[in-house]
Amino acid sequence: MLYLVGTPIGNLGDMSPRAKQILTDVDVIACEDTRVTGILLKSLGIEPKKLFCYQEHNKASKGPVLIDMLRSGLDVAQVSDAGMPAISDPGEDLVKLAIEGGIEFTVVPGPVAAMTALVLSGLDTRYCHFEGFLPQDNTKRKQRLAALKTYDETIILYEAPHRVAKLIEELMAEGFGESKIAFARELTKKYEEVIRLKVSEAGEYFAANPPRGEFVVCLEPLEQEEKGASGMCESDTLIKLLLEKGMPTKDIAAVVSAALGLPKKEVYNRSLELSGR
Ligand code: SAM
Repeated sequence: MLYLVGTPIGNLGDMSPRAKQILTDVDVIACEDTRVTGILLKSLGIEPKKLFCYQEHNKASKGPVLIDMLRSGLDVAQVSDAGMPAISDPGEDLVKLAIEGGIEFTVVPGPVAAMTALVLSGLDTRYCHFEGFLPQDNTKRKQRLAALKTYDETIILYEAPHRVAKLIEELMAEGFGESKIAFARELTKKYEEVIRLKVSEAGEYFAANPPRGEFVVCLEPLEQEEKGASGMCESDTLIKLLLEKGMPTKDIAAVVSAALGLPKKEVYNRSLELSGR
């Protein structure tokens, strides 16, 4: 059996008794960094039977090894460095492999930085979009930033402290200046803090208070008029919807251009942009 086990995002008191029991009982604990998880287990008084490194850079080769272990009858738990496996973590791929291989699996839920920050942000929680880390590659990053302008939901991003200033500049350039933004840092830890301001105020704030620790960023979506002002329009919403339904970009170009009377080529190019290709 495979268990995806949530672990604390800072505060050890958030480790559930069930999660602790599973990590004590399983034959193998697959983790991103054996040192990080080793420290967590030690502080919880858990003596692991076996730690197995499974992370972003080795997931393609180590995922099938874990599946073989499971097939042989071993119980495996997968944990993230912090928080829920499969949330900005290679557990996502392991779940897919388990489904393909007919391996039974379950989740032992725990804290998620994104949801913890969303609640603290004071922004709308009814509808939200989890973006996680923006790509490092410039072209893909620009495409994702452009896509964010089309959302109507609170946007949740993960960001490293040394990139917070760059992110603020990028959001300003995309027309988010008037949007509310909440920076939730060091969640569940001693220096937990939530900085709530407008994007246009954030650059000055962080110039005076350099960002430190781990960050989740919650961003208010653009207003309809702002979308219009920054070149967004109803075609984006429609394109996005059709992309989510899995329609090929060529077909989207045909449908949206016919429905809204827009040039096909323009819609096609925009579909490519929004698809992140
Ligand atoms: N699996 C984790 C979860 O459930 O949230 C996320 C893993 S992701 C690799 C790590 C990122 O999550 C950090 O860069 C930061 O953006 C966010 N994060 C994790 N713990 C945090 C904390 N205590 N406070 C603020 N952000 C945190």
